[in-house]
Amino acid sequence: MEEFKWEDRIPSARELRGGFENADDILSRIMGSGSPSIGSDLLHDTLLAKSVNSRRIKRSDATRIVSVTNQKGGVGKTTTTVNVATSFAAEGIPVLVIDLDPQANTSSSLGVRQRGKGIYEVMTGQASIQEVVRKSPIFPSLEVVPSSIDLSAIELEMAGEPRREAVLKKCLFSYLERSGKKYEYVFIDCAPSLGLLVLNALTASREVLIPVQVEYYALEGLNQLLRTINLVRLNFNPDLKNVMMILNMVDRRTILSRKICEAVREAYPSLVLSSSIPRLVRVAEAAAAGESLTSFDPSSPAAVAYRQACIEIAERL
Ligand code: ATP
Ligand code: MG
Repeated sequence: MEEFKWEDRIPSARELRGGFENADDILSRIMGSGSPSIGSDLLHDTLLAKSVNSRRIKRSDATRIVSVTNQKGGVGKTTTTVNVATSFAAEGIPVLVIDLDPQANTSSSLGVRQRGKGIYEVMTGQASIQEVVRKSPIFPSLEVVPSSIDLSAIELEMAGEPRREAVLKKCLFSYLERSGKKYEYVFIDCAPSLGLLVLNALTASREVLIPVQVEYYALEGLNQLLRTINLVRLNFNPDLKNVMMILNMVDRRTILSRKICEAVREAYPSLVLSSSIPRLVRVAEAAAAGESLTSFDPSSPAAVAYRQACIEIAERL
């Protein structure tokens, strides 16, 4: 009788598929796809990282000035500014970040604490941007105009000044012209308000990026913000045209989160980026370590999502 050899009964990968399975095939086979399981999440993240990291970010000929704003607190303005700016910078793209929030979280997350003068002194005419701008200790093509708690007094101090909405614009445009710096992006991180500082940011910008936290009240306040942006466009800054929204803290595994994403996309179909940022502890851990996610954990799915958002932002104009 012929000896039974179990090894001979196993079809080889080549026989099964007409070729060898690669790592993605093996993952797909083991994890399956489509169902919201940990396996399919892992598969989704692996495939996304591969495709996003293999793409290049389109370069910009002009300097794009983008305010990152939302009057709601804690929705991810600073996290978005820090991680979008560093994702661009990680590619060698020249970026300037202006921290226009007295909380100064952007400055510290980018490793640039204000020593001496900062944006307050710039806006009160005591220093130029050239004098206060600092290089990122991690990304050679990233520069930061730091902020400090002093900035909290500025709205009252500027209240009686003529053209008080255009102070930042004047300082920024004169710096860009005199320094000859060819930044491809300037990101301005705003405080959670619709006050004079935000008005200055919007007047100096040509674009707005609105982080929307995916939570039950996500849509609340967005119309008011869009009305304010439109008022600024009509009254102070006709160049303010490109408005983008980015969904943040998305939990792919809950139905509520998916429904909220759908509702925001339905309400503002042309404004919402297709890339969205997952809610991950890693994001908060990077902030707690005083770092961007781009340097703290570039392989995290959230860092990949930020890079994907950058690819999309770069192609939006
Ligand atoms: P503020 O209005 O006070 O300026 P903000 O809009 O700038 O706040 P962030 O400071 O960026 O918001 O984020 C608020 C908190 O949420 C931070 O602790 C941050 O680490 C955390 N966070 C932001 N995005 C995410 C995310 N995708 N996943 C997990 N945590 C996040
Ligand atoms: Mg902030």
